[in-house]
Amino acid sequence: MELIFEMSRPGRTAGSIPASDVPEVDLDRIIDAALLREDLDLPELAEVDIVRHYTRLSRRNFGVDVGFYPLGSCTMKYNPKINENAARLDGFTSLHPYVSDGFAQGNLQLLYELACDLSEICGMADFTLQPAAGAHGELTGVMVIKKHFEKRGEKRSTILIPDTAHGTNPASVALCGFQVATVRSNAEGGVDLDHLRALMSSDVAGLMLTNPNTLGLFERNIDEVSAIVHGKGGLLYCDGANANALVGVTRPGDLGFDIIQLNLHKTFSTPHGCGGPGSGPVGVKAHLAPFLPVPRVLKEGGRYRWSDEFPDSIGRIRSFYGNFSVMVKAYTYIRSIGAVGLKRVSESAVLNANYVKERLRPYFQLPYDRICMHECVFSGEKQVQESGVHTSDIAKRLLDYGFHPPTIYFPLIVREAIMIEPTETESKETLDEFCEAMISIAKEAKESPGLVKSAPLTTPVKRLDDVLAARKPDVCWTLC
Ligand SMILES: *Cc1c(COP(=O)(O)O)cnc(C)c1O
Repeated sequence: MELIFEMSRPGRTAGSIPASDVPEVDLDRIIDAALLREDLDLPELAEVDIVRHYTRLSRRNFGVDVGFYPLGSCTMKYNPKINENAARLDGFTSLHPYVSDGFAQGNLQLLYELACDLSEICGMADFTLQPAAGAHGELTGVMVIKKHFEKRGEKRSTILIPDTAHGTNPASVALCGFQVATVRSNAEGGVDLDHLRALMSSDVAGLMLTNPNTLGLFERNIDEVSAIVHGKGGLLYCDGANANALVGVTRPGDLGFDIIQLNLHKTFSTPHGCGGPGSGPVGVKAHLAPFLPVPRVLKEGGRYRWSDEFPDSIGRIRSFYGNFSVMVKAYTYIRSIGAVGLKRVSESAVLNANYVKERLRPYFQLPYDRICMHECVFSGEKQVQESGVHTSDIAKRLLDYGFHPPTIYFPLIVREAIMIEPTETESKETLDEFCEAMISIAKEAKESPGLVKSAPLTTPVKRLDDVLAARKPDVCWTLC
């Protein structure tokens, strides 16, 4: 496909302006000549060519509205269009953020009630909606932990993180000035309790745990984990980015967690990808609520208002109030499906992931053979041994079958990892089509490994140099 610059023809335009019927003005007299330029280097095209060019490009996009998107640890569920309709309402889009509270009652009520709903869902006392993403929520949560110990006059230098954790966890902890110590996983994919006991001391501020973890497994010893951490005065932080197996079924607060961050753009069904906008609300138990960011919405006698009157707050962590439109979508989602709907989300997500796991089990190695939660993790190790086909080849080949590949090479403790999260919104037929594609790729890997290794064969671009693209991004077209 030609670049729009290559399609350019001198003098061609998308619009015609009638000839001027007023005398020409000497521009030099109005604008400094040094600021003017003759050549703008913009492509010159007819309107129809521009429309076709961008429409063609848009059809090369892949998204949940186009096809199955089983990206593990990402919860690419369908985003109901009613969420968008609500977020587009004039009262939500037209209000100036500096308007006085009296004119923003409806919007403040939405923020207040969303925080209440999330608290109820997670078993927490209060929530801040300010953080703009999951990682930003983690940072906020770790700042709350830091403040908690400062307030108690305790110096604790380290936060524990299991070896299965998402990479943002150690990054958030380090950004906040804590050391990271890694807790090993045990043979069944949970926290190694002996290792946790050995690491947990009065110098440890807490444990950051993802539950279900990134192997898609529920922490069976969560009571014991909580007792070990709290026994030494530490706090238990839940990375709740993917709460798709928990909502409506169990509450992190009841499992012993003191803090949780959620990703509204994952579990609560707002579109994500390509960098946002997202929302990473943070919930806390009552003893940590004084540290939440300000301003906070208060409800007094049926009226709502912003309040800065929290002297122990960590302060602001985002301009204005966070990504408001994402909150409107999440609120709409929660209110439209209700408590019963949320429970069904978890049940169906877990059922779908286990269905995929059972169908693919004869063809791919399953390193942790347990009932999984919202996602399942395979290893491509068998294919590597048998025919030198790697997980990355399998992922590329899936593109030829019309599927977005699952997450690969994560979590790091599984070699050649293939992490599949089907989500609750997919039908049995779609899951079957995906499983059949995976099964036929497993057969191809045996019978014609060269084919799989040269995939994708049907996409506009083939194997890109990922490393070069990340290290030296070149997205600028220049005239040569
Ligand atoms: C997605 C994810 C995050 C980070 O969320 P962002 O919104 O991308 O910053 C953190 N932890 C886990 C387990 C995740 O899946």
